[in-house]
Amino acid sequence: MIFVLVETANQRLTEPSLEALTAARDLAQKLNDATEALLVGSGVRALAPTLKGVRSVSVVEDPRLTGYIPEAFAKVAAEAIQKKRPTIVLAPGTETGNDWLARIAARLDLSLATGCTEFFVENGELLGVTRTNWGGSLLEEIEILSRPQLLTLQPHAVAAQPLAGAEPSVEALTVTLEDRDFRVRMKELVRKEKKGISLTEAKVVIGGGRGLGSAEAFKMLEELASLLNNAAVGATRVATSNNWRPHSDQIGQTGTQIAPDLYIAVGVSGAIQHMVGCKNSKKILAINKDPEAPIFQRADYGVIGDLHQIVPALIAEIKKLKGA
Ligand SMILES: Cc1cc2nc3c(=O)[nH]c(=O)nc-3n(C[C@H](O)[C@H](O)[C@H](O)COP(=O)(O)OP(=O)(O)OC[C@H]3O[C@@H](n4cnc5c(N)ncnc54)[C@H](O)[C@@H]3O)c2cc1C
Repeated sequence: MIFVLVETANQRLTEPSLEALTAARDLAQKLNDATEALLVGSGVRALAPTLKGVRSVSVVEDPRLTGYIPEAFAKVAAEAIQKKRPTIVLAPGTETGNDWLARIAARLDLSLATGCTEFFVENGELLGVTRTNWGGSLLEEIEILSRPQLLTLQPHAVAAQPLAGAEPSVEALTVTLEDRDFRVRMKELVRKEKKGISLTEAKVVIGGGRGLGSAEAFKMLEELASLLNNAAVGATRVATSNNWRPHSDQIGQTGTQIAPDLYIAVGVSGAIQHMVGCKNSKKILAINKDPEAPIFQRADYGVIGDLHQIVPALIAEIKKLKGA
């Protein structure tokens, strides 16, 4: 059985959890096996019947389990795994999911493969996985020797599909939690107020780099974004380090990983640390004055020239098309 550890936020399934459930369903088909899920938290019981296609959902409800509480979550999941005896445990490869599974691996003395992107099945057995390393710039093919196999799924490695099929049976699990399981807990969550569409949700992302030359120049990227549907502006580390944009706009290894339909890279050289953050974009359009810029090796479309002429021309053309 494949046991999916489901991550929730505000009593809702997160997108990476849906991706993990989708991957588990595909894997279960290949392995001729079933999927089950674990829901942990406060007020998450109502979500259980929505996990259609999953055979059974184990629920651990406790008002103290609000937000991710590392030691308590690890204890609950480790006990559930010992009880349910799955062959594979899969969680979303988010910061929380990776932390959760790492703690479970330590408790149960098991190996763990984080950031999996592909699964190799032969004769009804999972023989190995491909996982990402070094911020996504290295792909490793590995075999996991301990059982159950603990895996996390790299976000965006699989497109989330709607949950379909029969309603699962729901089982309440009781795990005794003590005060020491709550030694580390979230006291407060302060969200940075962000106007507009987030980088991870936008269908078009326009990323600006050193070539922009100033914070002021980013205004034309904002204007371009406002003319496109569902578009957001991001930046390279050079742009954020120069305070042209806030750090939250940074795309890359030490920033946000994006997966839009179109990434427009403007005055961006295409350094590996930047590209690992945008490599899941469906298409990349690069605007750069240097025909030798590495970004052109990864781009689907390229415009060679001065961005200070090209971007305003693009804006004018879109406005003309829109009759604005
Ligand atoms: C550990 C580590 C982590 C890092 N993490 C990240 C990260 O998360 N994200 C990130 O982005 N970087 C990261 N970096 C930095 C990364 O290595 C690069 O330095 C950075 O991405 C380069 O940014 P850039 O493309 O804006 O600048 P540059 O590399 O300087 O490129 C600027 C480009 O603009 C072009 N240009 C200049 N003027 C114009 C013009 N008028 N018209 C058109 N084109 C023009 C140039 O031809 C050039 O190609 C990291 C580095 C390290 C060591």
